[in-house]
Amino acid sequence: MATRSDQLAIQGGSPACPVPIKPAAWPPVDNDTADQLRELYLSGQWSFDSPTEQAFARAYAAHHDARHGVFMANGTVTLESALVALGVGPGDEVILPALTWMATAMAVHYVGATPVFVDVEPTTLCLDPAAAEAAITPRTSAVIAVHLYGGMADLEAVTALAKRHNLAVIEDCAHMQGGKWAGRGVGSWGDVGSFSFQQSKTLSSGEGGICLTNDDRLADRMFRVKHIGYASGERQGLASGPPAGLMCHNFRATAFQALILHNQLGQLEDRLVRYNRTRDIIEAELTDAPGFRVQSRGRKATLQGYYNLILLADEGPLADVPRSLLLEALAAEGLRLGGTYGPVYRHALYNMSAQTYRVAEGRCPVAEETACNRVFGMSHPWLDVDAESARTIGRVFAKVAAHAEDLLSATV
Ligand SMILES: *Cc1c(COP(=O)(O)O)cnc(C)c1O
Repeated sequence: MATRSDQLAIQGGSPACPVPIKPAAWPPVDNDTADQLRELYLSGQWSFDSPTEQAFARAYAAHHDARHGVFMANGTVTLESALVALGVGPGDEVILPALTWMATAMAVHYVGATPVFVDVEPTTLCLDPAAAEAAITPRTSAVIAVHLYGGMADLEAVTALAKRHNLAVIEDCAHMQGGKWAGRGVGSWGDVGSFSFQQSKTLSSGEGGICLTNDDRLADRMFRVKHIGYASGERQGLASGPPAGLMCHNFRATAFQALILHNQLGQLEDRLVRYNRTRDIIEAELTDAPGFRVQSRGRKATLQGYYNLILLADEGPLADVPRSLLLEALAAEGLRLGGTYGPVYRHALYNMSAQTYRVAEGRCPVAEETACNRVFGMSHPWLDVDAESARTIGRVFAKVAAHAEDLLSATV
C-alpha cells in the first residue's frame, strides 16, 4: 500500500520529519571558561565570599535590575533563606501555585510554615491572583509567585494583592533567568527573587542559586542565613553576629560555579531572543490548523524566558483526543516529547502528611487536569534549533491538529 504524505504517520502516512529533530546540546561549554576554571583552581580562592562570587552576584543582580544578589548552593535553600529572612515560620501560611517544582513547597515546610496550594491560570499556567486572594486567611504571611515554563506570573496583580493584605512576595524565578516584566527584570518585583542554577535551567552551573532583593535589610539577613551568620565582607574572627533569632546555615556555593555562570550571563539575553524567535515560528505554523496553542507569555513580558516550551490541546478539535494518543501521533511524525510537572501534592516525592499543607478549595482543576492531561512540553534546548527545524516542529503539531477527526475515530 502506498503511503500518503497527508496521512498521519501513525495511520500509515509518511512522517513529517523522517530524520527526528534533536534539541541543541545542553549545557553550553567553552574552552575559555575551561581555562579560567583551571586558573581559579590554581589560585585556591574557591569559596567563602570570594571575589569571583561577589563579582557574579553583583552582575546577576544588575542584569535583573535588583540592588543585591546573595549567591547560594541551590534554588531550594534560596527559597528557604528568603522565608527565614522574612521571618516566616511555624503558624504562618504561605500561598503558592499547585503547579511548580516540589522545592517551592518544601522550602515552606523546612521553615515550619504551611503551604497553601492555589490553582493556576489556564493561559500562563502561573499563579491565579484571584485564587490566591481568595485563599488568604489571618495566618497568611507570604505568597510565592512562580514564573513557570514559558510564562510569567502576573507581577502587577500579585504585588497589588500583597500590598492590600500586607503580605511578603517571593518570586520563584528558577525557570525565568533573564526574563523582563514591563521592561524590568523578574526577581526585582517581589521582596525577594529566587533563582536556581541547577543543570537543566537556562543559566546553569550544575548546582547553584541566588536571591535578589532591593531591600538592604533583607539582603543582609539572607547573606547571614547562608553564611553561618557572617555579614558580607566579614572575615573569621571579625563577626558582628546575626540578629537574635535569625537561624543561620551554611548554604554557600563555590567560586567555580560563580565563574561558570558569570561567563554565561553575557549570552543570556541573546539566548532568550533566539528562544522567543523559535517559539514565534512554531506558533505561526499553528494558525491554519487550530488544536494546539502555546502557553501564554507573561501579560507584560517584554522578554520572556523559557524552561520549557509548552503547547496545550485543551480546546477546539483536539480537546477530546487522549494525550497518550497525541503523544504517539507526534512521536510517529518524528517528535518525541516528555512529560511536565503535575500538582506538587500529587508528586511521588511529596511525602508530606495531609495535615501539614492545604489545597485551597480542596482542589485545583487547572493544575490537576489541563496542566497534566493536555500539555506537551519541550525542554528549552529545543528552542535553540535553526529556523527550518522550528518550522518543521510547528508543522508536525499542525499536521496532527489537522487530523483531529482521524484520531478521534481511531479511539472509538
Ligand atoms: C529547579 C527549581 C527549584 C529548585 O532549584 P534547585 O536548584 O534544584 O534546588 C525551585 N523552583 C522551581 C520552579 C524549579 O524549577
